[in-house]
Amino acid sequence: MRIAVARETRDGETRVAMVPELVGKLTALGYDVCVEPGAGGGALFTDEEYAEAGAEPDPRALEDSDVVVSVQPLSVDAIRRLRAGATTVSFLPGDQAPDEVANLRDCGVTSFGMEFVPRISRAQSMDALSSQALVAGYRCAIVAAGLLRRFFPLNMTAAGTVQPAEVVVLGAGVAGLQAIATAKRLGAVVRAYDVRAAAAEEIRSMGAKAIDLELETLEGTGGYAREMTEDRAARQRDLLAPYIANADALITTAAVPGRQAPLLVTAAMVEQMKPGSVVVDLAAESGGNVEGSIAGSIATVGNAQVWGGRNVPSQMPGPASRLYAQNVVNILTLMTATGEAAVPGTFAPDFDDEIVDSSCITKDGAIHHEPTRASLE
Ligand code: NAD
Repeated sequence: MRIAVARETRDGETRVAMVPELVGKLTALGYDVCVEPGAGGGALFTDEEYAEAGAEPDPRALEDSDVVVSVQPLSVDAIRRLRAGATTVSFLPGDQAPDEVANLRDCGVTSFGMEFVPRISRAQSMDALSSQALVAGYRCAIVAAGLLRRFFPLNMTAAGTVQPAEVVVLGAGVAGLQAIATAKRLGAVVRAYDVRAAAAEEIRSMGAKAIDLELETLEGTGGYAREMTEDRAARQRDLLAPYIANADALITTAAVPGRQAPLLVTAAMVEQMKPGSVVVDLAAESGGNVEGSIAGSIATVGNAQVWGGRNVPSQMPGPASRLYAQNVVNILTLMTATGEAAVPGTFAPDFDDEIVDSSCITKDGAIHHEPTRASLE
């Protein structure tokens, strides 16, 4: 069977779902692989590199393949070009791509959403949310260091001592922990806060100081956080205000699944920061952790520059694509028929498998994924 690598068409998307280095993993499973010409351009991979790796550049890749892999959901136009019975693998958020999901359903396409791979141990190697959050968290710390017009590390020189920057990180999930680790490596003094009890130990294991606000913790299901009440949110903001006023750089990465990002920092809190301070809000696209942040631009609030993240993994398209492609290879491997009788390169997802079932969005002309169906129908 044939797997196509789609050329991304969304504005600002520079990643690609398969990198030349990993094409051999798919051909070794017995698949033919092709790419839409120019698919790797945003991530600096050429058609020649794909061809050398065994993936044929083909303008009819979408029409003539059984499985199409992409980062963003395929456009409605691309979906209508797929052959009957085709499968797609991509991120596929129903709330942000309702037309795409409806078209996948109506065209009889079987589609899988990478963000719905369950976060169980067996699926860790397919966890694209984590791989992309890792890239985003690193990038946030680098952006903060780049915007700040002072050193992150302590410098002891013959001309005197320069004190290290104070960095505060709010939200210590995958992205936050990576931001902490990166800021620490650059030598900053890092303090961090998260509403989950387990996060304090993880923050300390990265060498940062865990901020203890002595508030009740908010554990949800599956290792995620629970939403705050407005009263809890207000108390958290009051208690965090002095830490933020003292920070040279503030990095926010807080999220609650299925909800708008929680507002952790008001404009009044940012206004208390010192001249030259920097705020990096990774959650700007999903509502913002910081009042006044704008996704994709730098706003000025009080004395601070407030940087709002927009498709942050796309700012490091090479490594982000490499990690995403490995997630895709791993999920396609799971969905490939095995056993002595199996014909190599046969795509045969087993819907009794929790990973396959949970990540399937559309199948047999219907929306298979219950939360997506509930949000759209
Ligand atoms: P996420 O992107 O949903 O949220 C980011 C962080 O924001 C979380 O740590 C959350 O607790 C925090 N947060 C939410 N509301 C907050 C608030 N009001 N104030 C401060 N912080 C707030 O989370 P994520 O990074 O995807 O992962 C969260 C959890 O999932 C972690 O426990 C992580 O270890 C776990 N996880 C498990 C697996 C796996 O088992 N395969 C994979 C990845 C992550």
